[in-house]
Amino acid sequence: MKYISTRGGTAAQNFDDVVLTGLAPDGGLFVPQTVPEFSAEEIASWKGLSYGELAYKVMAPFVGDSIPEVELKRIIDASYNDDTFRHRAIAPLVQSGHNEWVLELFHGPTLAFKDFALQFLGHLLDYILGQRDQKVVIMGATSGDTGSAAIEGCRRCKNIDMFILHPHQRVSDVQRRQMTTVLEDNIHNIALEGNFDDCQRMVKASFGDQSFLPEGRQLVAVNSINWARIMAQIVYYFWAALAVGAPHRPVSFAVPTGNFGDIFAGYLARKMGLPIEQLVIGTNANDILHRVISGNDYSQHALQHTLSPSMDIMVSSNFERLLFDLYGRDGVALNQLMSSLERDEGVSLKPDALQQAKTVFASHRLDDAGTIDIIRSEYEASDYLLDPHSAIGVAAGRHCRKNLNTPMIALATAHPAKFPEAVIKAGYPHNPPLPHHMADLFDREERVQILKNDRGIVQQFIADNLRA
Ligand SMILES: *Cc1c(COP(=O)(O)O)cnc(C)c1O
Repeated sequence: MKYISTRGGTAAQNFDDVVLTGLAPDGGLFVPQTVPEFSAEEIASWKGLSYGELAYKVMAPFVGDSIPEVELKRIIDASYNDDTFRHRAIAPLVQSGHNEWVLELFHGPTLAFKDFALQFLGHLLDYILGQRDQKVVIMGATSGDTGSAAIEGCRRCKNIDMFILHPHQRVSDVQRRQMTTVLEDNIHNIALEGNFDDCQRMVKASFGDQSFLPEGRQLVAVNSINWARIMAQIVYYFWAALAVGAPHRPVSFAVPTGNFGDIFAGYLARKMGLPIEQLVIGTNANDILHRVISGNDYSQHALQHTLSPSMDIMVSSNFERLLFDLYGRDGVALNQLMSSLERDEGVSLKPDALQQAKTVFASHRLDDAGTIDIIRSEYEASDYLLDPHSAIGVAAGRHCRKNLNTPMIALATAHPAKFPEAVIKAGYPHNPPLPHHMADLFDREERVQILKNDRGIVQQFIADNLRA
């Protein structure tokens, strides 16, 4: 399997190079040259497989001969097991209404769906690097969720040293402790004296000039554009759909969306042959995706801080992967579109591209007040506590649903204990308890380095703390 760039200016590459590269050299995102397709019979034959067995079936064609079968199976088993995911089903489905379900993706080590991608990516990177006898440095900025999931994914990696920057005193206590209580000697948390943008600028500048690293080391990014993260997320669409009767009946999904990585995996599942009727995009007040789907307005608005912070974005980086398909996989046309977007020239899509998107995508926007309402009403009706991100998915699914005979599955992307503020605003009487494996989070030892927002100081710290 080869991968090409959405901007058409990069030669096709192998799976393992793509995983280590992140962004393509021409500025585009990597997509598979062809998407594997499965017949309904074949998909039906997967009913009853364990999560790991299914993951192998879904991912193997994307990996091709880059990784031997036994090794890919070992990586999958190390990623999805009773130790990493605190639920025997890995991704359990809970019924929330008539023909309506919630897919709980928050039973991983950091209580958010990003664990599905980052557990896998950590093991995958370590394997590929081991084969090449190479060591890398992962550097990233986080405002919360991604950093902790990346740290959990890489804490046991022999070939990775990891430096995660968060804005000092500006992440929640739970989020900080999920990162700083990981004490392995390849994990380094830097609390930068600045805001999240300062952290991002620091990371970007360091990727631009890596001369502070010793010979032979390079930086690798694990942000949401990494292809392996998308690939790992396709699996749970098949998993949930099979559980409610696919491929013999169609299913729909509603997805709380930020950078469009999660729902793009659903789009790929559909291309692979899974009969998905609707893919519903739920946004918060940062609604560029809702504006484009409902009114062909793809212009950037200022960032708003909401109760669902993991969806606070101005543009959705992975949307480019969908646009590539909508524009007939024409890298030149897409390059033009993306440049005008980067210049922020109030972009719209060509009408037939939008029309095509609307055959499967629908969208809904929910502000903070609406989010609180749905958390409250769901708790009152069913005693079920949604986190604010998941609540947006549930509301969007209900709002956009076309066909009541088709099961609607809303993706629950985080555990409510991670976002107590919204839950308490919705009338829940106290902080929702952390699951018991994390109950002692506030008693665990922390390790964190507070550093000035100074490039020389941060880079020196990194250079001084690399393992041999
Ligand atoms: C990252 C995140 C999202 C958004 O997912 P995308 O793939 O960026 O669309 C939604 N909910 C939670 C809890 C997240 O951490």
